[in-house]
Amino acid sequence: MQTDYNTCEGLRAILEKETPILIAQIRALYRELDKKFHLQGAKVPITFGFDTDSLGSYNQNGHGQKEHFHFSLFFIGYAVKNPLSKEDRMDLYKHEYAHYMRYNMPIPKQYQWQPGIHGSAWKYCCSLVGAAPTPHYKAGEALMNHNYEKTLRNPIHDKTVTIRDQHRREQEYKRTQNVILKYKKAAEQ
Ligand SMILES: [Zn+2]
Repeated sequence: MQTDYNTCEGLRAILEKETPILIAQIRALYRELDKKFHLQGAKVPITFGFDTDSLGSYNQNGHGQKEHFHFSLFFIGYAVKNPLSKEDRMDLYKHEYAHYMRYNMPIPKQYQWQPGIHGSAWKYCCSLVGAAPTPHYKAGEALMNHNYEKTLRNPIHDKTVTIRDQHRREQEYKRTQNVILKYKKAAEQ
């Protein structure tokens, strides 16, 4: 997909300079969570790109690639036109950490009933780290109070889980970009 981002070499250079601070922030959060859950997520390599169709992802070993987290500087960078809020950025990091957890810690049986990468096992991990238990990125969602018990028991299968994680989140991001203020106002009430 051709966007004006691709012609903006200056912005890319600025964003690339942000990677050390971003890595430090992500690792600080993951170290905190690692301590709490006896995991090693902070040791998983983090890569960055300029993806315009993905905010982030957790990639397992396999298919010729090593385990790593990946984030798009076009979404998590500070120098972009509409940078994510601190809460939304943290929520994205926790969202991907929950994917990591799901494959690296035992999931109680009662939370394994719903399949899919955003199924009940992942939602259970979200409830542990306080990430929004929705597969889509929604601006301002991180600020809401989530009813994890209800979400974990919801028998309605989310049909969107078969769609690729990153793509879904990006679509939702685009769709909700102009309602960020509305969400924030609602959450503050
Ligand atoms: Zn996801």
